[in-house]
Amino acid sequence: MSLQNYVPRIGHGYDVHRLVPDRPLILGGVHIPFALGLQGHSDADVLTHAIMDALLGASGLPDIGRLFPPGDPETRNISSLLLLGRVMQAVDVQGYVLGNLDATVIAEAPPLSPHYAAMRDTLAKTMNVPLLSVTLKATTEEGLGFTGHGEGIAAHAVCLLLPKLDPL
Ligand code: MG
Repeated sequence: MSLQNYVPRIGHGYDVHRLVPDRPLILGGVHIPFALGLQGHSDADVLTHAIMDALLGASGLPDIGRLFPPGDPETRNISSLLLLGRVMQAVDVQGYVLGNLDATVIAEAPPLSPHYAAMRDTLAKTMNVPLLSVTLKATTEEGLGFTGHGEGIAAHAVCLLLPKLDPL
């Protein structure tokens, strides 16, 4: 599939996972100490999933549910960072590089600001981009809804992809 020539492309991703006992909480590839973790087929890293969908959307590719179908034994409990690496390869094949991405995690608990630096560092290294290309934030929803009740964690991500320079 060829994309329109030499125009930047934006993408958006959104994901939700349910909080359950007896699972590690992995966000942005970082293990965050907490009594609950996220339920899912892979490591259920909701932040990384939203980022991948933003990248795939900007690339004109199918979403992660179609690229990595839930139930595939190959991706059971897999680190989502490995999937993110594959998504970045797909972005490259499409002729694009990451300009920047910005993501927001919505969680009532635990506080995430102490982990921003580790998450940014891990994500930037996995995507092989400068640290400044990855920005993160977190918010609560003031006790409202499923995130506010602590039933789950949601994440939004947006990204800007830039066309690779023409080698000619
Ligand atoms: Mg997911």
